[in-house]
Parts: sequence; structure tokens; C-alpha cells
Amino acid sequence: MEQVLSLCRRRGFFFPTAEIYGSIAGFYDYGPLGCELRRNIREAWWRDVVQGRADVVGLDCSIVTHPQVWHASGHAESFSDFFVDCRESKMRYRADQLFFGAVRVDGRDLAMLSVLDGPEMAAEAAEKAMAVRKKLALAGPGEPVQLRPVLEATEEELARIPSPATGTPGTLTAPRPFHLMLETRVGSVADAATTTYLRPETAQGIFVNFSNVVDTARQKIPFGIAQVGRSFRNEITPRNSLFRTREFEQMELEYFIAPDADWQAIHGRWIRDRLDWYASIGISGDLLGRDVHAKEKLAHYALACTDITFRYPFGVQEIEGIAVRGNFDLTQHQKHSGKSLEYFDGERHYVPCVVEPSAGVDRIFLALLCAAYDEDEMDGEMRTVLRLHPRLAPIKTAVLPLVKNRPELVVLAEKIAQKLRRHWNIAFDSSGAIGRRYRRMDEVGTPFAVTVDFQSLDDGTVTLRERDSAKQLRIAAEDLVPCLRERIDGPDRP
Ligand code: ATP
Repeated sequence: MEQVLSLCRRRGFFFPTAEIYGSIAGFYDYGPLGCELRRNIREAWWRDVVQGRADVVGLDCSIVTHPQVWHASGHAESFSDFFVDCRESKMRYRADQLFFGAVRVDGRDLAMLSVLDGPEMAAEAAEKAMAVRKKLALAGPGEPVQLRPVLEATEEELARIPSPATGTPGTLTAPRPFHLMLETRVGSVADAATTTYLRPETAQGIFVNFSNVVDTARQKIPFGIAQVGRSFRNEITPRNSLFRTREFEQMELEYFIAPDADWQAIHGRWIRDRLDWYASIGISGDLLGRDVHAKEKLAHYALACTDITFRYPFGVQEIEGIAVRGNFDLTQHQKHSGKSLEYFDGERHYVPCVVEPSAGVDRIFLALLCAAYDEDEMDGEMRTVLRLHPRLAPIKTAVLPLVKNRPELVVLAEKIAQKLRRHWNIAFDSSGAIGRRYRRMDEVGTPFAVTVDFQSLDDGTVTLRERDSAKQLRIAAEDLVPCLRERIDGPDRP
């Protein structure tokens, strides 16, 4: 993770927001390469999930949303996470991410320990348990520590759990709910009616526009409405860089189906489609997983939920949730607005159910970088290379005149660059040894480099170098656009 973050910093993928003022936790600003990568993620999703399907249409709703929307959806009352504070260190923890367990030997409960959620959590707990036994001169194997989230601790247990910050027991407060929505005011008169929220998800905008889309878009159920946009949650503990932030971007789809449709089959299809999509943008299957939510952990209105997970260096975590939400949201908005949100299929009126694939741009961004990061040896030298899929790469190709002190070479290279710029984001680099210039491009995932050399002046050909294999191909400069297009977007399917 540190290598990936250091590369992002060095090459300007993203920065903590407003760094010159000390920034704010949980907010980031994306640099020149980062904003291209994000755009490419959004565009790949939009192309494949919206434009590439006949049964999905797009929508773009306001971020500041009518307050009634959040009362109807239940967010205003209950969109909360539980936290505990350490009274001594003033540290704050999410109560479902702080775990505790008893150190037991021969059935005796000697002490409690606490660890923070993470892939090393069990190992850390075993180490802490060993330290307790050593201190009490009880060497030898103890019983394995059973870890539970602090959210489930009784009052007696809480009094014995040591704070992870100080190790002192009894300094943690009882878990309390923390409302996650960011409030804002609208208009010039400051009263209760002007207070509302920045959306914590894009989905509700889709539900409140359901009838507008049905009336105007000539879609018949089953069909989907998709939206990409920023969402805001005042997360208690933003962490793991872009993984958990307070402002992030979602790509959500509500796929509306009839109440008697085979939702299990449709849900299964979406899970497979979405996994295939991740593979198509270059995230290999062994880094992906499915986390099927247990029935008793589902929201009361949900029928099923499967998360798609990614193996980040800091643990296996959700990148996308695919839920079957029944018709809860439309029914709630119908009730609160007094407007019918029923669908008429020519024979019957009903409130449709939804399957909701909901992904996060920033989590995919981080996953792509983690999956793509590699180091290998090239021409006897170590290089850092981002093996990003060409479709996602921030820069598609670099144009490099072999030397910069031959004006005719530079002019020709600039001409070629200008032609390619009409199609893609490209880089032009004329300074330094050619090998160093290739490395600079490898490090940010540029899949191709076009080198203009002396032969180019004679016969109009250039070399096209491929990032991963470093193989070079000689082609006519005028064939570059179709040749690159096929390599970036894939061949046209019949
Ligand atoms: P978590 O349990 O990790 O908080 P969630 O289940 O609350 O996530 P959803 O409400 O299902 O997340 O949101 C759908 C998607 O939006 C997630 O899969 C994730 O990609 C993205 N997302 C949600 N919260 C954040 C956040 N704080 N920072 C970045 N992305 C987020």
C-alpha cells in the first residue's frame, strides 16, 4: 500500500484536500493523472452499464435534495453508525470496527484485549494475549481469543476492555449513534425549512424521478435507471486513503422488476455481469470475491445482498454492493409525497421491486492502482510499472521524438501528437534519454509509446512500443489512430 501511495503522491494522482491549509480528514483532491483515471472509470461504467444496454437509461440529479426525500427513505432518522470514545486519549472509534475478546487460560478469564479491524487482527489479538499470559507468568498455549465487535459488548464487558490508544481498561464510553449525513442550508432565510442534506447516496434521486422517467423514456419493466455522482457521509473514521472518505463518487443502478419476477435469477445475473465487468477493466478474478450477507443482517425491507469485494493490501473489502431492495423505497416515497409511483404494464398496476448494483468510483480507483502496481526488470534495470488496462490508463500514448536537438524530428512528432490528441489524452516528452522517458510513462500506466526517429523522416513510419512487453512494432504514422483504437477499445464485435 505504501508503494502505491508513494507513487500516487510522486506522480500526482491525488492529494489530501487543500494541503496548504492542513487539509480536512476524509477529503481528497485529484491531480492531472487522477482525474483522468476517474473519468475513465466513470466512462467505462457508463458505456457498458448504460449506453451499451437497451434496457438502461441515465439520470443526473441534484446533490442538495429536498429534505422530505430523506424522511421518506429513513435516512434522516436512522442513517447512523455507532461510535465509542476513549475518555483518556480522546480518540474515536467506530463500534463495529473495534473488536474485543477475553484472554482465557484453563477456562479462567484473565483479562480483556482490544484490536482494530484489519487483516492482521487475529494475529495481533494472539500476540496481545500472549503478552498478558507472560505478564501473569502463565506461559504456554492459552485458548484462542474469540473476537467480537465492541458494538455487542455488555456494560460489564465494556468496563474491562482496554482502550486501543492507551491500553487502560474502563476508559471507553458506551456505543452511541452518530448521524452520517452532512447538513446544509438553502436560501437566505435561516429557519428549519431551509435545512437539508447533501445526498449520502445517489439512489434516492432515482426513486423520486421514477415516474418522470417512465413517462418520458419509453422503457418497459424490466428496465434500469443509472446515475453517477458525488455522495457525502460524515464518516466517523475516514481511513485507508480513498477507501473510506467523506465525499466520494457512486455509480448506482436501480433495476426495476415486476413483483412476481424471479428476483433471485435477476440478482444472480447482475452479480455475474458486474464481476465480468471488473475482469474486463483488468482486475483479475483472484483479487475479487463475493460476500453474501446473512439473512438476519439484512435491512428489514431487503431480500438479499451480495457485496463484490477486492483484496486490498489492508484487507478484503467491499467495492460494490448488489442488493435486492423489494419495493420499500418507492412505497415510502408514494406514502410521503401522496403521489402514485405505480407502474401500469397494460394489465395491472403495481409498485415495482428493485435490484441495486451500487459501486464506488474511488474504491475502484484504489483497487485498480493496487492491482496494476508492479515492479520488474527491464534492460538490466528495475522499473515500476502500472499494468492498467489501456481503456483505463490516464494517458493512452506518449509521443517521443528520439532526440530533441533535431528540429525536423520534433516538428514531425508534434504533428503526430496533435493528430492523436483529437482522440485521446496523450503525452509529449522530448527531454532525457529515451529509456528514461519510457520508464516515466511505464510508471503511470501509459500502455503505448510512439517514437519518432530518423527513419520516420524518410518513410513516415514510427515505432509503437508496448508497455508490458516493451516490444516495438514499426508502423506507418497514418495507421496509428485505427491501430491504437483497436488496442484501447478492443476489436469491434460482429
Ligand atoms: P461500508 O459498509 O464500507 O461503509 P456501505 O455498505 O455503507 O459501505 P453502500 O451504502 O452500499 O456502502 O454504498 C455503495 C458503494 O459506495 C460502496 O460499495 C462503496 O464503493 C461506495 N462507498 C460507500 N461509502 C463510501 C465511503 N465512505 N468512501 C468511499 N466509497 C464509499
